[in-house]
Amino acid sequence: MKFGGTSVGSAARMKAAADLIATHAATRPVTAVVSAMSKVTDLLLDTTRLAEAGDQAGVDRNLEQLTTRHLETARELIPAAELDRVNHEIGDLVGEFRRITGGMSLLGYRPARAVDEAIAVGERLSALLVSEHLRSRGLAAEAVNAAQAIVTDAVFNNASPLMDATRVKAQARLMPILTAGGIPIVTGFNGATTDGRPTTLGRGGSDFSASILAAALGATELWIWTDVDGIMTADPRLVPDARILDEITYSEAAELAWAGAKVLHPRTIAPLVEHGIPVWSKNSFAPEKPGTRIVPKLTAGNSGAKAVTSMANVALVSLEPASAAVSGVHLMASALDALDRVNVEILAMSSSSYRQSFCFLVRNDEIDKAVDAIKVALSLEFAHGYINDVAVDRNVGLLAVVGEGMRGTQGLAGRIFTAISREKVNVIAIAQGSSELTISIAVRRDGLEKAVRAVHTECHL
Ligand code: ASP
Ligand code: MG
Repeated sequence: MKFGGTSVGSAARMKAAADLIATHAATRPVTAVVSAMSKVTDLLLDTTRLAEAGDQAGVDRNLEQLTTRHLETARELIPAAELDRVNHEIGDLVGEFRRITGGMSLLGYRPARAVDEAIAVGERLSALLVSEHLRSRGLAAEAVNAAQAIVTDAVFNNASPLMDATRVKAQARLMPILTAGGIPIVTGFNGATTDGRPTTLGRGGSDFSASILAAALGATELWIWTDVDGIMTADPRLVPDARILDEITYSEAAELAWAGAKVLHPRTIAPLVEHGIPVWSKNSFAPEKPGTRIVPKLTAGNSGAKAVTSMANVALVSLEPASAAVSGVHLMASALDALDRVNVEILAMSSSSYRQSFCFLVRNDEIDKAVDAIKVALSLEFAHGYINDVAVDRNVGLLAVVGEGMRGTQGLAGRIFTAISREKVNVIAIAQGSSELTISIAVRRDGLEKAVRAVHTECHL
């Protein structure tokens, strides 16, 4: 079971999480994974930036806030006899964070690996509080730093798990607790390299931590507790009649997550595929609601589109050969290679003409990095005038219609485009892969919301 930041955001929320853990642990072994309390990771990151800038007063102010929040939470969760000891442990963890930021101040620099070691303190604090609270209720909970269970590569700030090594390490650390009837409370978000250097899995990575551990331990189910009722057919702020989906597939969930639905970290699904571990996305504020079940395969009677998502903060990049001297394939290969090297994600891509001008969408905050990398990679071609300048259009939005059941459904794409054009919204670029899982459509930014509503209605979502 994984609990997100709002699900452990206060003493009351931690009690509710502990209730859910205790209820389920009474019937079968449970491992819990916890995020930092809501907003704590932002606070910690901000503190590392202040340290780098040499703003000691700012650092102290933030650490004061961090300490107070956790001490106050502890006071409500931990009985008097244990409180001193727990307060001390909180102080030790904050002290560890302070020590690392002290190094950053001296250097005037925050190395990625030091940032990872520092910000995992948020999760270590919440794991401490949840486990101590469960212990005070007579349960054998034990806080575990995931650096002792999840083995990753050395891509600091955005590490990926090494699954074979993780299986060995996670089982060695967690199985003894579970077989003794205990409940490991593991930190989300972090891990460590083979040689023990601390890493993190990227923002929002606690979902990913939970799925990595579910796979490593051979879990029968993964429950992701958040603050919404489940995965929806659309963003309810854009589409008032959006509804919760009872069931979606792994592929659909992953597509929706990549296409901007906030409910699940995009990398969560991958570790679960091998053993087909089912996932529940549930609301810890309303646990009686059924939530959304995420299953390996489409079940019968589940056809057509499932959901529509949109991303407003995107940019469309177009590249066009200006001369026959450069092949379109060379252009694409060089551009893609450049994007890969700087770790830019392509949200959708399309190329449809004989002259192979091609375009792709990236997040707004990655656009400068993307264009710079392409200009370097193709500098000779630009210098010779073989390519027209890179065209960037920021006035676009991306809409994605997702559903495995769209495969082979004739007329669906036609209906979707007709629905969008009825709203007088022009389609700028489109992409549908041969899996027919997702149709991506770029439109003018100001037409995005209208288009989303039109598609939601047209597909009877
Ligand atoms: N606390 C981390 C973050 O805010 C990880 C998570 O919440 O999943 O990014
Ligand atoms: Mg979070």
